[in-house]
Amino acid sequence: MVLKLYNTLTRKKENFKPLKDKKVGLYTCGPTVYNYAHIGNLRTYLFEDFLKRVLQYNKYQINHVMNITDVGHLTSDSDTGEDKLEKGAKRENKSVWEIAEFYTKEFKKDIRKLNILPPNLWCKATDHIKEQVNLIKKLEKKGFTYQTPDGVYFNTSKLKNYGKLAKLKIKDLKAGARTAVRDKKNPTDFALWKFSPKDKKRSMEWESPWGVGFPGWHLECSAMSMKYLGETFDIHCGGIDHIPVHHTNEIAQSVGATGKQPVKYWVHGEFLTLGKERMGKSESNFITISTLEEKGFYPLDYRYLSLTTHYRKKLSFDWDNLKSARNALEKLKARIIEIKNSKTSKGSTKEYEKKFLDYINDDLNIPKSLALTWKMLKDSKLGSKQKYKLILKFDEILGLDLDKIKESSIPSEIKKLAQEREKYRKQKNYAKADEIRNKIKEKGFILEDTKQGIKIKKNS
Ligand code: AMP
Ligand code: ZN
Repeated sequence: MVLKLYNTLTRKKENFKPLKDKKVGLYTCGPTVYNYAHIGNLRTYLFEDFLKRVLQYNKYQINHVMNITDVGHLTSDSDTGEDKLEKGAKRENKSVWEIAEFYTKEFKKDIRKLNILPPNLWCKATDHIKEQVNLIKKLEKKGFTYQTPDGVYFNTSKLKNYGKLAKLKIKDLKAGARTAVRDKKNPTDFALWKFSPKDKKRSMEWESPWGVGFPGWHLECSAMSMKYLGETFDIHCGGIDHIPVHHTNEIAQSVGATGKQPVKYWVHGEFLTLGKERMGKSESNFITISTLEEKGFYPLDYRYLSLTTHYRKKLSFDWDNLKSARNALEKLKARIIEIKNSKTSKGSTKEYEKKFLDYINDDLNIPKSLALTWKMLKDSKLGSKQKYKLILKFDEILGLDLDKIKESSIPSEIKKLAQEREKYRKQKNYAKADEIRNKIKEKGFILEDTKQGIKIKKNS
C-alpha cells in the first residue's frame, strides 16, 4: 500500500509522492529554548519521529532539518509581550545565551531518551540573522511590508489566499479585532522585524536597514527551510497550534518572496492534554521527562503511551494511563525474552508484514500496528524464531529498543512490589506481605525466600 498522509492544506488523506525520486525534504519546527520541553511538546516530536521512521521503512531518504528558536518568540503569538528567552533569563538570573545553550542541551537529552531520531541538521535562529534580513528585503521589494514605530510588518491583505491553511475567515477577524489593531493595517499582519525598545538595550539585537532590533518568530522557519531544503520541499510538521498563526505566516512569507507554495504536505499533530486542558509551558501544569523519572517511570514508558493514540487524536495524559503503558511495555519485554530463548520455527510472517505496512502507511496508524504486534506475538501458528525476527523489524517503527532487552529483566513494577512486601515482612505485618506476594503471583512472578535474600522468578 502506498503511503498516505493527511495534508492540512487540503484536509484530505493524500498519496505521498516526493518532489524528487525517493528523496524527502522534511522541516519540523523545533523548541523555543527558554525552559524544559514538557511531555506535550515531546508528543509532537514523537509523532514526527513516527513519521520519519515510516518514511525510512518505505525506503525514502530523508533530509530532516529542525530549528532551535532562540530569539523572537514572544509570550503572545500576536507579536506582543516579552521575548520568551528574555523571560527565561530573568527567571534564572542568567544571560539569554546561557539559557538558550542550557535548554538546547536538555532538549537533545530528552529526545535521545525517547529514542527520537535526531535531524540531519539543527539550525539556530540567531545563526541566521543575515538570511532573515535578506528575506525581509525581498518582501519589501515586492511591496509586502510596511513600517510602524514598533517594527516592520507583513501586509497580509496584499496576499491572495492568505490564511488558506487554517481556513481563516479574514472578514470576521477584521470585524472582531478593531480595538486590538494598534498600528497594524490588518489584524492578521505580523512582525518581520521588531525594533529594540528606545530606552533599553536588549541582550539579543542586531543592526538592520530599518533599525536595531530582532526578527519576528515566523521569519526564521521560512528563511532556514528555504536555505537548507529549497524554495519548495516535501513535508513540514508541527503541533496543531501552529496552523492558524505560525505556519500560516510562514506560507505568507515564502509565497510573498518566491511566488511558490513552500510545502507540498503540511502534517500536524494533536495536543497532549491534562484533563481537559492543553499542557503548556506557560501554564503551571507542565510535566517533564525528569518528572516521569522521579516517579519511577522510564522515558520509553511514555513513548509506548504515545504509540497507543493516533497522532491526530487528543491524548489525555494521566498517571494511570502511563502505568498501563509501563505494564504493557514490561509484558512485551518479558514476552520477547521468552521467544528469544525458545527456538521453535514454523509458519510464515508474510501476512503480518503486509498488514503492518498497510497500517503504518494509512496516515501512520501506529495504534493499529501496535495491536497487530501483540496479535502476532500470541499467534500459536508462528514459531518463536519467526516472531523474534519480525518484532525486531516492527521495532524499526515502534522504537522501543526491543533488541537490547536483557535476559534477567524483571519488571520494575514487580521489583517495587517485592520491596514493599519486604517492608511489611520486617514490620511483621504478614497478612499484608502475603497479600502482595499473591498480587505478584497474579502478575506471573514468584518470590523465593533464599539464604541470599529474596529471589524473583518468572512463574513458568
Ligand atoms: P514550543 O517549544 O513552544 O515552540 O513548542 C514546540 C512544539 O510543541 C510545537 O510544535 C508545538 O506545536 C508543540 N506543542 C505545544 N504544546 C503542545 C501540547 N500540549 N501537545 C502537543 N504538542 C504541543
Ligand atoms: Zn516554525
